Amino acid sequence: MSTAGISPMNCPPGTKFHILNLGTLQADEGFLVRGGNTSSLSQKNPVNKRRDLMAIAVLIDHPHAGLLLFETGCAEDIDTQWGAPMTDVFPRTEYKEEHKLPNAIRKAGYDIKDIKGVIFGHLHIDHAGGLEHFMGTDIPIYVHELEFKHACWSVATGADRGVYLADYLSLSNLNWQTFHEDHLDLFQGITLHHSPGHTPGLCIMQVNLEKDGTIICTTDQYHVKENHLDKVPQGWLAREHNDWVRSSTMVDRLQRLFNARLLYGHDKEVAESLIKEKEYFE
Ligand SMILES: [Zn+2]
Repeated sequence: MSTAGISPMNCPPGTKFHILNLGTLQADEGFLVRGGNTSSLSQKNPVNKRRDLMAIAVLIDHPHAGLLLFETGCAEDIDTQWGAPMTDVFPRTEYKEEHKLPNAIRKAGYDIKDIKGVIFGHLHIDHAGGLEHFMGTDIPIYVHELEFKHACWSVATGADRGVYLADYLSLSNLNWQTFHEDHLDLFQGITLHHSPGHTPGLCIMQVNLEKDGTIICTTDQYHVKENHLDKVPQGWLAREHNDWVRSSTMVDRLQRLFNARLLYGHDKEVAESLIKEKEYFE
């Protein structure tokens, strides 16, 4: 996969990039990091490490495109939307009022009603649950064509049912705007790069900020920093390994080219330190 043709354009002056904390999930480390919690002859019953995972969205106040949301976290009522055993395997361990999507947006100084577009890296339930707030609106929902098709196919055939929302066809009252490009400049300074592996249509989002430089939101190309920094592939949540490796090479090139900082799909420590560093990046 080449990175040819990538525009080095910056977002317009005045762009603001906010990271939203939409609560904490917990999971066995084996889901996230390959080999996590594996037994061996000398350690037949290792302690099963569990990891806290932040559900993350990004809010971009863009002078040309308006208020944009990158991913949406989980549904508010996961007991109904996910049900058991998902809520037992991936329990939500922290979810206060401030973590609900409309409240997190309000905390950043905006109103969910002012969102002008929702961009998806991928459509798994812990990223697309907040679509419930956009049903029946004509707000464009941007996602790669392969991701949308794969979500429908996975659910309809049962091939990968548990990780996607229950029924995408019932979501037909959303204004889906699919794209098929490998690299797409969606708005000035915001580029989506097709990064298959975790899912076939996953896209990472590159945002070139005038003052703070480039930030790449990797969604679940990398759940946690070890997937990237230590090159440890994903655990039980991995799908197409070879694709994932190729996508990883592309991300490395991008990071080098743009001296980019990375916001991983769920790494709580990395996200918390970025949130602590600045109210917003610009
Ligand atoms: Zn995820």
